[in-house]
Amino acid sequence: MNASGFGDGSVTIVGGGLAGSEAARVLAAAGFDVALHEMRPERPTPAHKTGDLAELVCSNSLGSREISTGKGVLLAELQLLGSLVVQAATRHAVPAGNSLAVEREGFARDVTGAIAALERVTVVRGEVAALPRGPTLVATGPLTSESLALSIARAAGRTQLFFYDAIAPIVAADSIDADVVYAATRHGRGEPDFLNCPLGPDDYEHFIDELVAAEKVLAKDFEQERYFEGCMPIEVMADRGRQTLAFGPMRPVGLPDPRTGAIPHAVVQLRREDKAGQLYNLVGFQTKLKYPEQKRVFRLIPGLERAEFVRLGSIHRNTFISTPALLCEDLSLRSRRDLWFAGQIVGCEGYAESAAMGLMAALAMVARARGAVLEPPPRTTMIGGLMGYIRDADPRHFQPMNSNFGLLPAPAQRFRGKGARAAKRTWLAERALGDMAAWIERHDLGWLAAGTPTDESSCSASGVTAEAGAASDAGSAA
Ligand SMILES: Cc1cc2nc3c(=O)[nH]c(=O)nc-3n(C[C@H](O)[C@H](O)[C@H](O)COP(=O)(O)OP(=O)(O)OC[C@H]3O[C@@H](n4cnc5c(N)ncnc54)[C@H](O)[C@@H]3O)c2cc1C
Repeated sequence: MNASGFGDGSVTIVGGGLAGSEAARVLAAAGFDVALHEMRPERPTPAHKTGDLAELVCSNSLGSREISTGKGVLLAELQLLGSLVVQAATRHAVPAGNSLAVEREGFARDVTGAIAALERVTVVRGEVAALPRGPTLVATGPLTSESLALSIARAAGRTQLFFYDAIAPIVAADSIDADVVYAATRHGRGEPDFLNCPLGPDDYEHFIDELVAAEKVLAKDFEQERYFEGCMPIEVMADRGRQTLAFGPMRPVGLPDPRTGAIPHAVVQLRREDKAGQLYNLVGFQTKLKYPEQKRVFRLIPGLERAEFVRLGSIHRNTFISTPALLCEDLSLRSRRDLWFAGQIVGCEGYAESAAMGLMAALAMVARARGAVLEPPPRTTMIGGLMGYIRDADPRHFQPMNSNFGLLPAPAQRFRGKGARAAKRTWLAERALGDMAAWIERHDLGWLAAGTPTDESSCSASGVTAEAGAASDAGSAA
């Protein structure tokens, strides 16, 4: 190892979950000596049951393999990158239609065995209570232990670390009925960036009835049902009184419909979620309704009858940092450049997404050790789209994101008629996979799928551009 503070070529990973395991195998293959710290079984989390690495805490599915879904594209990209998690999942797959569902104990044991077999990786059991010195990757996930969370808060700033998410649904812009909604900001202040769904008195009453009666997700034992006013579930607010929403997140004051000049009885505001304007967030609609209920009830909102939900709402225990405020493009902390973050803690959502971030952070560390900086996969790929989102999102409203087609730049051509949505998705998926394959080839990353770099030079060239890029992104370097 040479420059960039990597000294003797050893690195620390904290957290042996999906992201940490994926990162360990990449770093070991690239020639690093890795100390992988996992606090289980000595110190359990409220959700994990075993001491195995990469334990799946809830569903046994990594998501749909269909290339017509965001998750399917992500899984295919991970496969191209030789993902340990996807390979183990494929070996332990159980019949589940088009989904990649696994026999969970076999899957976790497989990953644990694969990591144990790597000569360069030492698995160290026990809690890491404070951020270690030297090149370190933090991949401690949504249930990061309390002491470490405090240490992260000290390094990152107390206001930039969150313990619960409050996720409102996001819909695809092209599925919103443009004849019904109207663009306006309250009292006409600033650019009319919001789209507004107008509700008449009858629409409103019907919506409240369905919202209050809809089925909710029960909180887990370790989740406290105490909500801050600013992130109370929409259905809990509605339950407080029939007009609460009309005076709260659905208040129409200052939002006349420009077509009639009249102020509707209530309004659901949709806020742009991305720069390209392909995604819109239902403002103030964080919710614990069950997923199918969200689709049913929120499609009662005028203008959203045919909405495509690219992310559904939720509120759960989730430790994550404000990546747009804190991290560089290569997932290192701006104020301490030898500290990287990966997995759910960077504000992605999902098993496959967490593994993908682990893989990317590890490649970024490899690049930095060679005195260079990782060029992330293009925005047209699902991984590049996700990394771009968590980097560029508005820090004031940052909430975790899963893979979805809305993260990818729209095609120049328009798809029309019956089957247009499917055709567009196929086109986006093919472009993503083609661009990912080209990125792998351009950066000589074939060794990821092969297991080890063929030689030192191929590793040193891996996915990097000149260090100048890193320096310009460095902020206050440590
Ligand atoms: C209750 C719950 C249910 C979820 N269900 C799903 C689901 O069904 N589907 C889905 O796609 N996603 C789900 N997620 C979200 C997320 O995808 C998973 O949590 C995923 O495992 C995150 O991967 P990760 O590698 O970031 O973290 P994890 O897989 O949680 O790995 C982090 C590891 O770090 C360890 N650790 C924590 N603190 C320390 C410390 N101080 N020192 C040493 N080790 C430490 C933990 O023990 C853990 O093994 C769920 C999350 C939660 C909390």
